[in-house]
Amino acid sequence: MQGNEKSRTRKARRSRLSLLSRRRFIKTAGAATSAVTIGFGTTAFGAEELPRVNEDDPMAKALNYVHDAKTVDAAKRFSDRYCNNCALYAGAADDAWAKCSIFPGKVVAGEGWCSAWAPKQSG
Ligand code: SF4
Repeated sequence: MQGNEKSRTRKARRSRLSLLSRRRFIKTAGAATSAVTIGFGTTAFGAEELPRVNEDDPMAKALNYVHDAKTVDAAKRFSDRYCNNCALYAGAADDAWAKCSIFPGKVVAGEGWCSAWAPKQSG
């Protein structure tokens, strides 16, 4: 009788531990899934998946954004300023298109420019 009771207690404890482990696993898996989703979010919806900023977009117009910086008067934009060397350009210098925090959910041209251009911090 006592043996059966001990056995039942052990089984109940194992069952609770198993339930806790499952809960912990589900919590951890959920967090991991979220992290992966966020990580994939930047990949799956990377620059190549996003629409290009429309030059006629009100924000683009307000900032004089153009896909081709060379079409802007050099004196106005300074000749060496392009999206691909702007601090807000999220791509590599040789990326044709990349995200810019000024235009969330869109990409700007590496060869583009707007009046919000900002120098990259050195160091
Ligand atoms: S803020 Fe910089 S990267 Fe963004 S559109 Fe303007 S010049 Fe291009």
